Amino acid sequence: MTKQKRICIFNTLTRRKEEFIPILPGKIKIYTCGPTVYDYAHIGNFRAFLFEDLLKRWLEYRGFKVTHVMNLTDVDDKTIKGSQQKAIPLRQFTDFYAKAFFEDIKTLNIKNADVYPRATDHVPEMVEIIKTLQAKGYGYIGEDKSIYFSVCKFPDYGKLSHLKMGELKAGARVSQDEYAKEEAQDFALWKAWCVEDGDVYWETELGKGRPGWHIECSAMSMKYLGETFDIHCGGVDNMFPHHENEIAQSEAGTGKKFVNYWMHNEHLQVEGKKMSKSFGNFYTLRDLLAKGHDPIAIRYLLMSTHYRQQFNFTFEGLEAAKAAVERLRNFVRRLHEVESEVETGKVAVLTAKLEACFGGSMDDDLNVATALSSLFDFIREINILLDANMVSKQEAAEVGGLMMRLDEVLGVVGKVEVAEVLPQDIDALVQKREEARKAKNWKEADAIRTQLKSMGIVLEDTAQGVRWHKEKA
Ligand SMILES: [Zn+2]
Repeated sequence: MTKQKRICIFNTLTRRKEEFIPILPGKIKIYTCGPTVYDYAHIGNFRAFLFEDLLKRWLEYRGFKVTHVMNLTDVDDKTIKGSQQKAIPLRQFTDFYAKAFFEDIKTLNIKNADVYPRATDHVPEMVEIIKTLQAKGYGYIGEDKSIYFSVCKFPDYGKLSHLKMGELKAGARVSQDEYAKEEAQDFALWKAWCVEDGDVYWETELGKGRPGWHIECSAMSMKYLGETFDIHCGGVDNMFPHHENEIAQSEAGTGKKFVNYWMHNEHLQVEGKKMSKSFGNFYTLRDLLAKGHDPIAIRYLLMSTHYRQQFNFTFEGLEAAKAAVERLRNFVRRLHEVESEVETGKVAVLTAKLEACFGGSMDDDLNVATALSSLFDFIREINILLDANMVSKQEAAEVGGLMMRLDEVLGVVGKVEVAEVLPQDIDALVQKREEARKAKNWKEADAIRTQLKSMGIVLEDTAQGVRWHKEKA
């Protein structure tokens, strides 16, 4: 588990898979762009957060000590607009959605970051970087009194998103936080107060105003992880302008390389279409929970496609994810019930094969789809041995241990209830159903199964007879 193997990741900066080498041996520093807390996070956001969770868990599985920082964007164009619409102070508005975000990540069993810095708590750090950029000639004051980053002064501009500098409009400026690649031009580091900002402003050496969105992430990442750190993640939609601008500000300011490896997850679609409120296919996590879906099935579904592939969310897929999680849990449960002493040596061979296949796939740019398929192959093969009573109690315990270790990465099995005691009446129903089955009275057998299901008892017919477990609440 603690062996450090060769891990390859696809680096957006170079557009190729590279061997991952951390700055400090055994330690990894990761920054991931967090939520803009102006609304509930949607499943597209969670695809990114789950990819990052899987990455972190895998690196930890491989023995690295990971330091993870995820910011909360609590001041930008969208949060200001939202708080004004609700007519409440910005902090009160963003606190509400920040709290919802933390509840959601807990529901999805996403591991906590080490630090969740909030932009509004780090304005002095942003001011310092902007002052440095001005002193070095990268920042200038526009006629609107805002401070802009002069893109043409930074020859590396465009290296992440592969933007051609010749296409930029010289001297043109953009003040909003988000804009398209075609509109690439000088962007705002510091936005001078304007009447639309209402009571959201800071009185600083740069004048009365507020930070631009991009400088927030430069300031918070470098404060907690240093001027150069290992990995920066985010959704592919953040590659431009957000991450491109983060690189420009940070590297122009420090004169050092900002980040060694950039990782971006692809878009999510819903039922084959772009997710959009206007298409009626826009879902927050809460929307899906309100429809009665299991959050762990949602977790499994969103993380089980390779992060660099576009992912199509469907309700059919969600049902399949639920079944997959249930298969994993049933398997773990079954291992606990093994009493046999028969050992054939086959289990050790299969276990070694799984460790090699699962590990090899995950080390290969986090290829979780292949890793999961090797896991389900393994389960099928062990189940065949279990059916034939060819797994010893000791071997079952070893397989169970491996399953728990892999679940540290997947985060979907959790604690499986074992050694349950059936109340007498349920026991009697199970017996009655067995008798109905023996008498080939399928109708009655099915009726009893349904009755048991309504009591939260799930039956499984196996070669060794009927097995049961309590359905997860
Ligand atoms: Zn960011």
